[in-house]
Amino acid sequence: MKRKLGIIGYGTMGSWHAENVRDRIKDLDVSLIYDINPEKLEKAEKDGFNTAKSAEEFLKSDVDLVLVATPNNFHKDYCVRALDSGKNVVCEKPVCLDMKELDEIFAAAKRSGKLFTVHFNRRWDVDYDIVKNILSQNLIGKPHQVYSRLFSNRNIPGDWRTRKKSGGGFLYDWGVHMIDQILMLFGVPVSVYADLKKIYQPEVDDSIRLNLKYEGNLSVHIVADSWTFINEARWHLSGDDGTAIIYDWFGKKGKIVRANVKTVDWTQGCVYTENGLSRTMWPRPEKEISETDLPLSEKDPRWEEFYENILATLDGKATQIVTHEQIRAALAVVMACFESAETQSVVKLSKYLGE
Ligand code: NAD
Repeated sequence: MKRKLGIIGYGTMGSWHAENVRDRIKDLDVSLIYDINPEKLEKAEKDGFNTAKSAEEFLKSDVDLVLVATPNNFHKDYCVRALDSGKNVVCEKPVCLDMKELDEIFAAAKRSGKLFTVHFNRRWDVDYDIVKNILSQNLIGKPHQVYSRLFSNRNIPGDWRTRKKSGGGFLYDWGVHMIDQILMLFGVPVSVYADLKKIYQPEVDDSIRLNLKYEGNLSVHIVADSWTFINEARWHLSGDDGTAIIYDWFGKKGKIVRANVKTVDWTQGCVYTENGLSRTMWPRPEKEISETDLPLSEKDPRWEEFYENILATLDGKATQIVTHEQIRAALAVVMACFESAETQSVVKLSKYLGE
């Protein structure tokens, strides 16, 4: 029998889940929608879905799995209420606003024995899949500088995302996706230093730079800027045996460049500018460099795996892909970044996650 999905919050993302689960997840029925705004309920009905007139009616229903897709400041209460009503729960990112709220959610999950996870859908992006391949196939050696960047020129949607009390801003919105990807690639950093700017928004960050520092030589730089009119490459990774670039997050454009000759010949040339010369900046001759294509997976990653994994976990045939530990770590990095920006200091993750 198909399991039943109920959705709280039928806005941009709630309706996206409804449509995509209906069209792409064969063992899950979108069975009920609740939204505080009656116009959204009307829209859901027009789209062919059943609706509940109140949260109480929704939580008393027979849905097996609840998706919480409201503005961020309502996530914690709905997650706790849904878990305490005996429902399994998927929450949209960011899971909630701070570690205390997260503790309350995890306590409710423990109490109820129900599944709780977060929709970290960017784990199925093609650009991220390529980065995973680059690292797992050891194509650039040991990475030391990694840039994960996203740019937009529209600023942030002018709704609850612009309000502090709603959990607005770029760090909660895009930062947490980018952080989750980095944690999946490299694990939890030792410390962070964050610069959160308010370029266009008075209340919330809309241009962010996060530096994540790891043991050894690795630094990861996450940049998301919503007020930029020329983009830089989505990913740039320097390792001790090569460099990789991936230009955007839609396609598969990019390359890997490595040196064929490990020794450096300083005697052969120089780059001259009007005001001086440099041997350091003199590019290697072409014959010393080789370029290769990006390592694409045979098949593109499938977002469907997210819900398929939840269903398999509920059937006892899998363990959940997005784990509590990963959810806690991603939120801890977000919190450490807020603290770092506020205090203009380096913040250790052990403060939020223990030693
Ligand atoms: P939205 O404003 O388009 O939709 C939010 C909906 O929640 C609206 O229909 C609103 O009426 C409803 N709502 C507001 N308060 C409510 C309440 N107290 N009870 C019930 N319903 C309420 O916002 P959105 O863009 O759909 O974002 C919703 C969530 O999804 C956010 O947490 C956001 O971060 C997340 N999101 C995730 C992704 C992703 O790729 N994973 C993309 C976009 C948004």
